[in-house]
Amino acid sequence: MPLVGVLALQGDFAAHTRVLRGLGADVREVRTPAGLTGLDGLVIPGGESTTMTLGIEREGLGDPLRELAAAGTPILGTCAGMIMLDRDHLGIADWRCARNAFGRQIRSFEADLRIPGIDGPPVRAVFIRAPWIAEHGDDVEILASVDGHPVAARQGNLLAISFHPEIAGESRLHELFLREAAVRA
Ligand code: GLN
Repeated sequence: MPLVGVLALQGDFAAHTRVLRGLGADVREVRTPAGLTGLDGLVIPGGESTTMTLGIEREGLGDPLRELAAAGTPILGTCAGMIMLDRDHLGIADWRCARNAFGRQIRSFEADLRIPGIDGPPVRAVFIRAPWIAEHGDDVEILASVDGHPVAARQGNLLAISFHPEIAGESRLHELFLREAAVRA
């Protein structure tokens, strides 16, 4: 089983840790650059992207996170994690997110999504003040959209979703991520 990290500065990191441990992974909650050493994969959880940005700056995690990504390490970004990866935040992924994009009236909702690589019934997606991808480069593959707006994407070793499988009893995206991390272990 791979050793995977969960960025644990802010947000719902504990729920990801639980899901990943439930799947048998070795999980380390990461709060400092030293915590990134030796990881086979990393989850950037949902939360609040402005607060998470401040934490990353405070801990000097920006460059170490960019190096981890550049080394090809699988990274799963969910919701605020998808925002953190974008051009305007860590600058790791070639997309730009619109924050709280579904608007005030529908801050939270659920949808069933078909995602390539996830077999069986559709993915139950819980959206909470979710972003969507507003713009992206050519090497970004859009995996799922809601009302024409991308909510799941892949770019090389990066997998990003704007919803919260970790609170919906949906572990297949974490399984997919762990399979990719296991290749590096
Ligand atoms: N609205 C949050 C933000 O902009 C993201 C919400 C989430 O992660 N559930 O940072």
